[in-house]
Amino acid sequence: MSEVPAPEIRAPREVLVRVRAAALNRLDLWMTGGLPNVSPVFPFVVGSDGAGVVERVGDGVRAVRPGDRVMINPGISCGHCPACVQGEEPLCRDFRILGEHVPGAAAEYVVVPDENLAPVPEGMGWPEAAGFSLSTLTAWRMLASRARLLAGETALVWGIGGGVSLAALKIINLLGGRAIVTSGNEVKLERARELGAAAALHHGREDVVAEVRRLTGGRGADVVVESVGEQTWANSLRALRKGGRVVVCGATTGPSAGFDLRRLFWNQWSILGSTMGSRREYAEIVRLAHQGRLWPVVDQVVPLAEGVAAYTRMQRGEQTGKLVLEVST
Ligand SMILES: [Zn+2]
Repeated sequence: MSEVPAPEIRAPREVLVRVRAAALNRLDLWMTGGLPNVSPVFPFVVGSDGAGVVERVGDGVRAVRPGDRVMINPGISCGHCPACVQGEEPLCRDFRILGEHVPGAAAEYVVVPDENLAPVPEGMGWPEAAGFSLSTLTAWRMLASRARLLAGETALVWGIGGGVSLAALKIINLLGGRAIVTSGNEVKLERARELGAAAALHHGREDVVAEVRRLTGGRGADVVVESVGEQTWANSLRALRKGGRVVVCGATTGPSAGFDLRRLFWNQWSILGSTMGSRREYAEIVRLAHQGRLWPVVDQVVPLAEGVAAYTRMQRGEQTGKLVLEVST
């Protein structure tokens, strides 16, 4: 990390944050382009998730001051296009993500606009603060804004264990829904039950579609949270009730998924895409975090120098919760 010069404040509303911890996301794996080439000294600054202490602020910053403990909303938008004016920042024509389009948080320092910062809740440690934003925001927009999950509804989440799926589980419960989750790993299924899953299915040994039907009195799930892609897509639709919604935020096993248009209109399904979240949505999850109701699950905390091991764990899908890099102490 010492090979990259510290970033500088270049605009009045920018803030220099000394990063204490950064959390991994699947996005980082795409960014680093596969593990064989990853070296412990990051060739460029990735990291969409981070938390730290405000070091310096631009002339126009009023919301935070040096010494504040902050976590970072990784979505950066232009602030003046029609989408931004309407408060739909993820639809901004110039939407950028920290660590993807601009230098990220897996470094000693990061510069971000002041409106992307939120205070770390009292009692929340650096690993949780670092792992909070991207996954929780993504899952919140999917369920609360896009699929509009209602109390009493059933949502199916494939592949519990990653940050977004675990945040989805928590949010389904918070909204009064019932979560059915799947995994190929018994330990993850047990953990999901502890975290409030109504049913946890082994997708290697159980017929997920049949189980979802059985658990919903034959109707099917009201909502399916989809990020797996090709491997699960057909079953996502089979598990869905008439009038149900599939909300998609990723395609880990491949992007090409098809369906019969006749089934779409006959079943009156809604297929919804979702990415990141708006400032309003971020404020909502921050409020819930400050109430202690929406904290992320942390899998492991490792020093930045051991980042490769964490990347490997993520690529193998071994984690249950966020993988966090300790950047400074
Ligand atoms: Zn914009």
